[in-house]
Amino acid sequence: MLAVFDGHNDALTKPDCELLAAGRSGGHLDLPRMRAGGIRGGIFSVFVSSPGDEHTTAPEPVEHEEAAARATAVAGRLVALERAGEVRVARSIRDLDKASTGDGPPVAVLHLEGAEPIDPGLEALELWYAAGLRSVGPVWSRSNAFGHGVPFVSPSTPDTGPGLTEAGLALVRRCAGMGIMVDVSHLNEAGFWDLAGLELGPIVASHSGVHALAAASRNLTDRQLDAIGASGGLVGIVFACSFLRPDFADDPDTPLSLVAEHARYVADRIGVEHVALGSDYDGTTIPAALGDAAGTPRLLDVLRSVGGFDERELSLIGWENWRRVLAAWWRS
Ligand code: ZN
Repeated sequence: MLAVFDGHNDALTKPDCELLAAGRSGGHLDLPRMRAGGIRGGIFSVFVSSPGDEHTTAPEPVEHEEAAARATAVAGRLVALERAGEVRVARSIRDLDKASTGDGPPVAVLHLEGAEPIDPGLEALELWYAAGLRSVGPVWSRSNAFGHGVPFVSPSTPDTGPGLTEAGLALVRRCAGMGIMVDVSHLNEAGFWDLAGLELGPIVASHSGVHALAAASRNLTDRQLDAIGASGGLVGIVFACSFLRPDFADDPDTPLSLVAEHARYVADRIGVEHVALGSDYDGTTIPAALGDAAGTPRLLDVLRSVGGFDERELSLIGWENWRRVLAAWWRS
């Protein structure tokens, strides 16, 4: 079975996440379903929801103190899984390589989706790094001390406001210096160009789609795709129905072929070396034909049949492209 690395899941934030090792009755991802789907590694998101409904068009900000408290608890769940021997928290690229060969448990990259848990002075970043943090998205789809995320508006350009703040520029520079990947998914376009201009590393959008195919604010314009390609980065193609479909419907009756169409578009425009997977399992509505993480082989079949990708290209999309960009940011 092809080893798959998945660029984004929200399973740690779910109320039944204590069942991640044994298997949850619902949702999309747990360790048994990762094994069934060939997912040998993934980016596990620590996310703090906004007050009220997180799925409103423009989610409200969250204060640093509250975010820090809640995120510490969520991250602790992943560290507990590692202590129990159920996952290996990735601290260097060797941890990915071990997992890709089936040596030991799956590898989990600890990710902050929205940097509110980090103080604007960045003192907490060292402790998070020591706990295993290796990926940071400066913003979720709201504003914080570091920058501004895109509101959930469709259709919309991602050019929705100002760029990274001074604290945001300091954050991404410090991340690069420490060997933490920076993720542009949810970041607005001005922030994207601020990051791109710093040339800190390959530009990575962990879970996004193609704006030319579905003009959602969360998707990437052709110009952004070109910059990602030029930087050696990648797009983890998201499985969210509302970002895949040209009508943005949040409808599980969405053909799996749309994932392949977004992947093919990115491959044709900037090269298959810049295409990867970023499911957003447990964070969104995904096509019913996929079902959950165990259905990943069905997606690979569609990438072959509809996307026209051969086995070498599938190994790039499935694992090697993620390995390359993570190695570039981590440098160890
Ligand atoms: Zn997200």
